[in-house]
Amino acid sequence: MTDSIRESLVGRNTEEIREAAVEAGLPAYRGSQVAEWLYRKLQPEMGGGFGADFATMTDLPQSVRQLFGEKFDLPTLALTRAQTDPHDGTIKALATLIDGGHPIECVLLPDDKRVSVCLSTQAGCPMGCTFCATGTQGLTRNLSTGEIVAQYLLLQSLTTRRISHIVLMGMGEPLLNYDAVLKAIRILNVECGIAMRHITLSTVGIVPNIDKLAEENLQLTLAVSLHAPNDTLRTRLVPVNKTYPLSRLMNSCRNYARHTGRRLTFEYVLLKGVNDEPEHARELALLIRGMGAAVNVIPYNPTTVAEAFGRPDQGRIVAFRQVLEHAGIVVTQRKERGRQIAAACGQLVTEAARSRPMARDLPMVTAEAV
Ligand code: SF4
Repeated sequence: MTDSIRESLVGRNTEEIREAAVEAGLPAYRGSQVAEWLYRKLQPEMGGGFGADFATMTDLPQSVRQLFGEKFDLPTLALTRAQTDPHDGTIKALATLIDGGHPIECVLLPDDKRVSVCLSTQAGCPMGCTFCATGTQGLTRNLSTGEIVAQYLLLQSLTTRRISHIVLMGMGEPLLNYDAVLKAIRILNVECGIAMRHITLSTVGIVPNIDKLAEENLQLTLAVSLHAPNDTLRTRLVPVNKTYPLSRLMNSCRNYARHTGRRLTFEYVLLKGVNDEPEHARELALLIRGMGAAVNVIPYNPTTVAEAFGRPDQGRIVAFRQVLEHAGIVVTQRKERGRQIAAACGQLVTEAARSRPMARDLPMVTAEAV
């Protein structure tokens, strides 16, 4: 980690920013004022949030602004480009990490009732799920707390509506970056005012850290990417299953639900001819019986990276859902948002990383124009 990241104030909570102020020889309350600008004056016209600059913090004396500016950085990300899907308003933002210039992506998904965002927790991903475009890149590095929080601030600056829900389901496996992710969750909750129940952490199943998370007893929602109902198939699709097979994962999930009182969601990407048979649905129903968990089915969105996989036809999707529903399981189906800008899970950055336009058929939209 370089000095520029270590010295950034984004990713520190109010108490830590107060301490930074004291270290700089200032009264602690000056730190509270800076935190207010960073995390609560979120709209661009307020001068805070993603566009915050010490120069615009007008309730601080000039000498104080200058001192902060000499000692600390604010940005941890630079917005490279943002694209809007003309059909549903989804915005996909490509950003560059100030430290190292690595590209990451995050997505804003507005609908009638809520504004959700999907944030990345790693640059790339080491898990290598065989159907996932991000997984083909390998891991570049973990993101810092500031880089995770900054994605939220960036997306909030692109909309006039308040973000209400956060999903940690972009690039990367959040539970492999445990400390930075947990701190980001606390900042998003305490500093930015996102309800803990509106924050979802999606994991492919890092068992020891699911157990650790259960001990935190947070009211966040845990989503576990299952994608297969037996070890043979799951190991083929999700290689980490070799390390944490289904018996261990299910024990951990049951423990999590018991400990937190929260209902789990299992994510299941439907891949044509691979895991979409009614028999797979029956096996899945047996695997999760008695847990009161929901299943979110996600018909696969084909990519050029994982060409071996296809999307099941509608009849097959309905049949799969019906088997689960007849077994008394709550089934949801992810709304397909941003397909035109390749904003679907597992497609983040890869296209940009290949130096191609992210959506050749869409006009680029700058942050200012959104
Ligand atoms: S599906 Fe998630 S965990 Fe698996 S490789 Fe892709 S980003 Fe990583």
